[in-house]
Amino acid sequence: MRRNRNVKILATLGPASSTPEQIKTLFHAGADIFRINMSHGSHEDAAARHAAVRAVEEEVGRPIAILADLQGPKLRIGAFADGAKPDLQIGASFRLDLDKALGDERRVQLPHPEILKALEPGARLLVNDGKIRLRVTQADPKFAETVVEVGGVISDRKGVNVPDVELPLAALSAKDREDLAFMCDLGIDWLALSFVQRPEDILEARELAGDRALLMAKIEKPKAVERFDAIADAADGIMVARGDLGVEMPIVEVPPIQKRLVTASRNRGKPVVVATQMLESMIENPMPTRAEVTDVAHAIYEGADAVMLSAESAVGAYGPEAVATMDGVAQTVEKDPAYRKGIVDSRTPARPSTSDAITAAAREVAETLDLKAICCFTHTGTTARRMSRERPAVPIMVMTPFRRIARRMVLLWGSHCVVTQDLGRFKEAVASGIRHAEKDGFAHDGEHIVITAGVPFNVPGTTNILRVARIGEKIGPGDTIGE
Ligand code: PGA
Ligand code: MN
Repeated sequence: MRRNRNVKILATLGPASSTPEQIKTLFHAGADIFRINMSHGSHEDAAARHAAVRAVEEEVGRPIAILADLQGPKLRIGAFADGAKPDLQIGASFRLDLDKALGDERRVQLPHPEILKALEPGARLLVNDGKIRLRVTQADPKFAETVVEVGGVISDRKGVNVPDVELPLAALSAKDREDLAFMCDLGIDWLALSFVQRPEDILEARELAGDRALLMAKIEKPKAVERFDAIADAADGIMVARGDLGVEMPIVEVPPIQKRLVTASRNRGKPVVVATQMLESMIENPMPTRAEVTDVAHAIYEGADAVMLSAESAVGAYGPEAVATMDGVAQTVEKDPAYRKGIVDSRTPARPSTSDAITAAAREVAETLDLKAICCFTHTGTTARRMSRERPAVPIMVMTPFRRIARRMVLLWGSHCVVTQDLGRFKEAVASGIRHAEKDGFAHDGEHIVITAGVPFNVPGTTNILRVARIGEKIGPGDTIGE
């Protein structure tokens, strides 16, 4: 089984997609990676979804990646008396304080003393996804007096964004730490960190996760945009989290930021996901809008590794249709000669390392000879990432004996991951490459592939060899291993 596209599809799981049957339908529609959002649901739900994905993986016989997304330091106001929903009027004053008393149209609790301490007059507080804008007029460690700049209905426990202040908050809340431990114990492939502000935030999570998961930095704060280089260096992957980014920054700045982050991530060889509201109207409709289709297409033209669905697949009525829409857009865009030209023009030069030289050469050889696939043997996934960074015109078969590496690399642009049996010698690797290229439908008898590996074989970090192989070629004694 193979996909007919390079870009990957990430689908968020939720009440509309929690049974193995529903998840299998999403997989067959085209979802490659599943996100478990720790902002919603219990550990029990998360464990059930995790088990369901693993069951589907077993059944379909293809590696599937699981991304656990930590909530991060999300701020919320307290509750209102009698469930009141005051309609805040422009120009009115409204106070946020530490008082547990239920709120009214004059005040409400903000149970975050450290935030109140950090606020200064002039700072903005954005409530309910930025729908309401309050500006601080008087700041005190115990309260903030604000004036309503954009009014609207406010209600219990709505989220608050504070874009103007670097939050003096630990990157991981107590809940995040519990979620991280729980999900890492279950066994996940990627861990996403919300509201990252500094590279140290990544290092803190790395300390706890160890090598149990790769870390994805969600870029959704102005500070993270500012410090993108250092954050990207510390992380294994990037998510352009346009939801909160569009609240924290002027919404019109989101498209240029997206372009910049996609390019900068590709430059580093770090996979990048474009997320949020990609097919928002499909939560309720079987057909997307023209604008949504165009948005998905643009992320693909930019060369993103993956596009993501949130509520569309988690709670929407048309999750499989949304996945299929992304799949259709991807297949169509990737056939456009302008897509290939854009990808080639934005390719970044190889670093002076053996593995970059080999992966660049493999791409050249494959494209010059019109070979059918690049078959790349990897122990840690590093060579796979460098190969994906090359954005070759032919599919990348990522071959590894480690299931967890295969799962992690599913996120990479152009990858088709294969768990091999233990291979002792390069000769066996060649035989295995040939066999899988044929079996998975990349090449037929008499056609050629290019293989990269390290010799001596089975020593991590040694990619140093490139070999053109023909399907049907006799390899010799090593050829006899069956998989
Ligand atoms: P969320 O992150 O869905 O966890 O909020 C994505 C975003 O903010 O875009
Ligand atoms: Mn977010």
